Amino acid sequence: LPSQLVAAKPILDKINAAGYEAYFVGGCVRDMILGEELHDVDIASSAYPEEIKAIFNKTVDTGIQHGTVMVLDHGEGYEITTFRTESTYTDFRRPDSVTFVRSLTEDLKRRDFTINAFALDADGTVIDLFGGLADLKKKQIRAVGDPEERFTEDALRMMRAFRFASKLGFSIEEGTLEALTKLAPNLEKIAVERIQVEFEKLLMGQAAGTVLESMVAVDLFAHFPGQAGQSAGHFLEMAGWLQSARPKNLLTVWTLYLGTLGIPKDGLQAELRSWKLSREIMATVSRLAPAIEGVNDLSVWDLYQINDLAGTFLEVLEIMGVSESVRLSISDTFAALPIASAKDLALNGGQLIQSGLAKPGPALGKLLHTMERQVVSGQLENSKDALLAFAKEAE
Ligand code: ATP
Ligand code: MG
Repeated sequence: LPSQLVAAKPILDKINAAGYEAYFVGGCVRDMILGEELHDVDIASSAYPEEIKAIFNKTVDTGIQHGTVMVLDHGEGYEITTFRTESTYTDFRRPDSVTFVRSLTEDLKRRDFTINAFALDADGTVIDLFGGLADLKKKQIRAVGDPEERFTEDALRMMRAFRFASKLGFSIEEGTLEALTKLAPNLEKIAVERIQVEFEKLLMGQAAGTVLESMVAVDLFAHFPGQAGQSAGHFLEMAGWLQSARPKNLLTVWTLYLGTLGIPKDGLQAELRSWKLSREIMATVSRLAPAIEGVNDLSVWDLYQINDLAGTFLEVLEIMGVSESVRLSISDTFAALPIASAKDLALNGGQLIQSGLAKPGPALGKLLHTMERQVVSGQLENSKDALLAFAKEAE
């Protein structure tokens, strides 16, 4: 067993000793079988939340209405979710009600894909009710049960199919892909925040390029939030970039997707808003988009203004296949900037006023801005004396 599961085994033992069933479930079992790094260890149990709370001293109600209780053990938190079924989906996205059950089989049946529906008991035995092991061997994503039914219940699963295909380098099984093709428009019923999370993971996956091409083939991308980002041409362009490169973080992911559209500022703002992205991501993409578009014609001043985003900018250019000579000249320019921001000027507004060379007001702001430009362009030395002399000249 991987160390994370060894560390969590006493939790299973304790639940078992109290007379209930408990298993490791979901992604951690899949990743263990694949020999991949585990991130979260999820536990499912026949014990109801109140029963779990009676077994352990330290628990937190993290999602009690869904049956999830967090148990704190040796400084770690473990989410334990009661076996449950989800009944009658009327809106393509959320179960109308969650019912706790005592049967592991019922719980595994509600899971999306066979490779996500394993359970692992305290002895290390894998329970595989839907042929997940065979699908892992075939490297395929296959829905548990009838794919049309499963995608109708929750349309986000269509995104998840592609997300796992990208993460694992798997293909989507024929019947599952057929159902997905038919039901793709239902993606529009899904909250953008949920699509966002899956799309981010998809773009960071090892097979993102191939997966984006399939998404165009089944038209799923056409039901994405936003307008401009949905063009098949743009998706295929990104697919090309991602054949041989992988974005490392979310800023890169979104800059690559929305910062490369080459659309006017208003259009870009609308696109960013429709994805409900964080302030930081929106600001980053808005500031980098013009620089990406004008990449062959950037002045030192242009680069100075995105200096704090240099890492993301260069990473995106590399993924886009911008030539090494262009990227080197840009990174040399970043490295040679005499100041990183106006704060680095050797003289500030307060000192200018004290020295009697300026009065508070718009003229002072203008003077500081002129000095900043001159320093950045290398025409003025960034020393107190040089800046004082410049201010005297300007008086
Ligand atoms: P990752 O390692 O990327 O977190 P994961 O398999 O743990 O992958 P999660 O999104 O964390 O994926 O979900 C945990 C488990 O819950 C899944 O393995 C799956 O069994 C189940 N699951 C999650 N979302 C859904 C869904 N929309 N429909 C059905 N089952 C789901
Ligand atoms: Mg997970």
